[in-house]
Amino acid sequence: MKTTAALIETEHLLGAHNYKPLDVVLTRGEGVFVWDIEGNRYLDCLSAYSAVNQGHCHPKIFKAMVEQAQKLTLTSRAFRNDQLALFYEEIAALTGSHKVLPMNSGAEAVETAIKAVRKWGYEVKGVAADQAEIIVCANNFHGRTIGIVGFSTDPDSHDGFGPFAPGFRIVPFGDIDAFRAAISENTVAFLVEPIQGEAGVIVPPAGYFAEVRELCTKHAITLVLDEIQTGLGRTGKLLAEEHEAIEADVTLIGKALSGGFYPVSAVLSNSEVLGVLKPGQHGSTFGGNPLACAIARAALKVLTEEGMIENSARMGERFMTGLTDIRSNIIREVRGRGLMLAVELVPEAGGARKYCEALKARGILAKDTHGDTIRIAPPLVITAGEVDWALEQFAAVLAST
Ligand SMILES: *Cc1c(COP(=O)(O)O)cnc(C)c1O
Repeated sequence: MKTTAALIETEHLLGAHNYKPLDVVLTRGEGVFVWDIEGNRYLDCLSAYSAVNQGHCHPKIFKAMVEQAQKLTLTSRAFRNDQLALFYEEIAALTGSHKVLPMNSGAEAVETAIKAVRKWGYEVKGVAADQAEIIVCANNFHGRTIGIVGFSTDPDSHDGFGPFAPGFRIVPFGDIDAFRAAISENTVAFLVEPIQGEAGVIVPPAGYFAEVRELCTKHAITLVLDEIQTGLGRTGKLLAEEHEAIEADVTLIGKALSGGFYPVSAVLSNSEVLGVLKPGQHGSTFGGNPLACAIARAALKVLTEEGMIENSARMGERFMTGLTDIRSNIIREVRGRGLMLAVELVPEAGGARKYCEALKARGILAKDTHGDTIRIAPPLVITAGEVDWALEQFAAVLAST
């Protein structure tokens, strides 16, 4: 068997260097834990960016995947399959949506929404041809396609990849006056994350989204909530919009929609927006395939049936309280909702990466983001005992300077 060092060396030699992972080579996962090839066990505090909310290798999702894989995996949408309608029915009932469009990656769901709201703008709202504008937020993260990185404000994501598509206006996140000022007669949509994940778990000011909702309704603007990371229990509710007591016109989900087994994403909306797409105007070879649908159905079922959303709320509160109680001169702020948490360190701490390395040595995998922030997002099946153990490790690492 190749050693850790040898595998890392091969990756370095042959792979594009578009990631800078922690040097741990994982080979197995179960629930909240993963194991490296040397047999060390870690508590996963990233959950593949919230794609494994249901825990690693959930046996019921695995079973659904294997059973479906033995029957039928892909038909393309040229023909129908017997899983798609059931997936539509279950996701629509769960989220209260009227229309569903299945895709694969999160970025594809975002691209789909952009296409749909533009077409809706021309055909329903009456915007002049090619004049549609979509308002987005500074420090957004919506994926990596050319269409999406064109309106990213992160230089790493954006710079050097142009030319980009026009039609996007960028406003600060959480600033209702800036949003109001950016609205024009050509505004077709506001695309926004309920909590900015990649930006470092930025929670908006109370009441922001209620006002956003009001302005969108008043000016016939489609409110598109990107819940690819915040959705499906991560924040302690099925969708993060519930914390704001609002409803989006279009909701994007992905990541945990498959519990980490397969790329599955979806655009959820009312009939008016997705209704503008006619045969031949949008599609995906793999989108809505029977394997994806069977996996997503099982992933949604265990999420609700096994009380994971409620556990996320309870354990999130416990984790947050514990982090807030840590006495340390290097912690600037603890923030988040449910099990979507972050600890921001003071600049003098010298960056979050070395604390993530120290956590790794103590059996916790967490990810640094934007230099000074440690993100904490374990699978939603974490127990109180595991939270308490994790808190001891965080306390030890953050106090030891
Ligand atoms: C991860 C993510 C995406 C992109 O999903 P991919 O599956 O990586 O394309 C989009 N929006 C948000 C908020 C995300 O967290």
